[in-house]
Amino acid sequence: MIKSYVTGFPRIGEKRELKRALEGLWSKKEGFDEAKLEDTAKTLKARHWAYQKEVGIDLISSNDFSLYDLMLDTIYALGCIPFRFRGLSGRELYFAMARGEKSAVAMEMTKWFNTNYHYIVPELNKDTKFSLNSEKIIAEYNEAKQNGINTKINLIGPITFLALSKTTDDSCAFCHLDAVVGEYAKLLEQISKLDDEVFVQFDEPIFVTDKGDALSDKITPVYEKLTGVSSNIKIIFMTYFEHALNAVNEVLKTKIYGLGLDFIHGAKNTQALPALANSDVKLFAGVVDGRNVWKANIDEKVKFVKELESKLGGKDFYIGSSCSLLHVPFTLKYEKKLNDEVKSWLSFAVEKLSEISIITSLANNKELCEVASKIYAQNKASANSRASSALIHDKAVKDRVSNLSKFERDMSFDERIKIQQKALNYGVLPTTTIGSFPQTVELRVARQNFKKGEINKLAYENHIKAYIDECVKFQEECGLDVLVHGEPERNDMVEYFGEQIKGYAFSENGWVQSYGSRCVKPPLLFGDVSRPEPMTVEWIRYAQSKTSKIMKGMLTGPVTMLNWSFVRDDISRAEVAKQLALCIYDEIADLQDAGIKVIQVDEAAFKEGYPLRAENIGAYEKFSVDCFKLSVASARPETQIHTHMCYSEFNDIIKTIEAMDADVISIETARSGNELLKIFKAVGYKQEVGPGVYDIHSPRIPSVDEMVAQIKALLEVLPKEQLWINPDCGLKTRKWEEVEPSLKNMVEAVKIARAL
Ligand code: GLN
Ligand code: ZN
Repeated sequence: MIKSYVTGFPRIGEKRELKRALEGLWSKKEGFDEAKLEDTAKTLKARHWAYQKEVGIDLISSNDFSLYDLMLDTIYALGCIPFRFRGLSGRELYFAMARGEKSAVAMEMTKWFNTNYHYIVPELNKDTKFSLNSEKIIAEYNEAKQNGINTKINLIGPITFLALSKTTDDSCAFCHLDAVVGEYAKLLEQISKLDDEVFVQFDEPIFVTDKGDALSDKITPVYEKLTGVSSNIKIIFMTYFEHALNAVNEVLKTKIYGLGLDFIHGAKNTQALPALANSDVKLFAGVVDGRNVWKANIDEKVKFVKELESKLGGKDFYIGSSCSLLHVPFTLKYEKKLNDEVKSWLSFAVEKLSEISIITSLANNKELCEVASKIYAQNKASANSRASSALIHDKAVKDRVSNLSKFERDMSFDERIKIQQKALNYGVLPTTTIGSFPQTVELRVARQNFKKGEINKLAYENHIKAYIDECVKFQEECGLDVLVHGEPERNDMVEYFGEQIKGYAFSENGWVQSYGSRCVKPPLLFGDVSRPEPMTVEWIRYAQSKTSKIMKGMLTGPVTMLNWSFVRDDISRAEVAKQLALCIYDEIADLQDAGIKVIQVDEAAFKEGYPLRAENIGAYEKFSVDCFKLSVASARPETQIHTHMCYSEFNDIIKTIEAMDADVISIETARSGNELLKIFKAVGYKQEVGPGVYDIHSPRIPSVDEMVAQIKALLEVLPKEQLWINPDCGLKTRKWEEVEPSLKNMVEAVKIARAL
């Protein structure tokens, strides 16, 4: 018998109700208070449980809900509160840790594995004490029970919790392992009293990483203790995002009830099946993609599940989502504008529930109810239409990719840079910015009005032109060397290009939680992509016509487009990447024909695509470098290609960055002095570098002196001839009052530094 489960469900609400309730409370908006937040949370939980129950999911979670973040909930539940928050309690303490308050800065936040979700990083030191507060966990179980559901309780596993913690002294987080496990044991003791039998899911995704492999010897002692607490608790050791092969044998040594493995993003997990077949541990197989938005092909999934069954020797097991559905949008219900055919290929969290349920029924040879039969029929139809739709398949694009003969630029950097220096005629320490200037309220309003049809194209374009005029004028006055147009026509660096590329679609309501109340709406890359018309040329040409200085063209790179979109899964990523690269390739060709001499190809999300396991890094690096090089291969030797990355740590990837072969790279090192630049020197990096001389993430205006000091520090590492001077990222989130004096000071600082 096969049963179904869901690893976890999103919580922000299908209309982002939680976001509104949180932000209303934080900003003390009328009608918003703690009671309203409480009420919203209760409604959402009940609704989410009902969705799962309605379609017949066997194992539904509680404690997958959170007002901010589950790692933060765990910090709170374990009572390991950083000292600076002393004196606070309850909700006030909880939100202060996440967002900071007058006397205490917020805790650090970082990316959850290789997703775009961010968690709060636990802060420990050798004196940290733990004391359990189980209230939320127990209450949520009881709440679900009142809704008629016996849930599995989701917890962050102790090993993953410590592995993701940082220490503020030099102590090791794992010196707290016994203490932490002690608190978890107390928690299980309380849980054991809730019912005759309770499922508890311990999320231990650290074991899909190399770091986790080194921790696998901790599994047996920790989980022997936890499984020993009470025989009525069934513990599931849950992993996702990659294979967890090195943890499997350890898990099988314990009395753990179930082991969760991701068969979508960790295909190698099938190697664990023989061992599982010979063990009492039950498999929880993630078979429906929790990280992408396409319909699962139900027939193929059923086939796969039956194979699992036979490899397990007919043993009972569970099937579900490959990870929490937190990483996909809620529901297609509110999508009114999406093309019907594109919509028919999609499946968001709510729709995935039906898929899981139907796959389970079919694999058990059970008859489907009427509603399920209809969904199943639609699923088959959608699989067929995806295989043949003219919206997806574009022969010209496919042919072009398979007949490619030019993959990189002509001439080496050494030769190119000589030609460029002559053609562009810039001196030492040239100054520039990263592209965007402040996005003002007027700009946003104009864009919205244009989209709504309230102002016509001409009126809108006049707004944009006026903004560009101002930007150019300011930059000239300021004395910057390489100017930008300011990106006033762009809402978002991926969306702007996606909207002009054939093969991309946009949802109205496809929000995914990024952190706390913040959500993003990734575009949907559904088909063969191509660029019907130039995307940026008119604006850049206009901007260039307003100045005799160099105007820098501004594009978003293919790797970033890929990493910040939901990407089709019917062809390889490498294939999609090539198609995207060719869109940029054509744009560069057109820009340079329009007289643009410097073009920046932003790869803000380059590092985000890095795989979780070292074994896959080489392939990713080759793929992304090839993709970037192809995208700029149309640039003539005299056209200077810049790239920008929102990172500062390049130690592990410097050779890859060098291999991208950009003439100039600007990076985000402003907060780390010259420390992180040293790697560029250490490897003999030849291309030019703009390390960022001030931090644009803060409203502070940097003084001339401090930027002179910063430039001097940079000059200790790299020679004048190799350095560019710029802020460390785009300026769109800043105000003009901050940007103007900051850039003027920057140019002043450069003048002083040049004379040194
Ligand atoms: N050119 C973009 C800008 O200036 C780069 C954005 C980014 O680095 N995230 O806004
Ligand atoms: Zn940036």
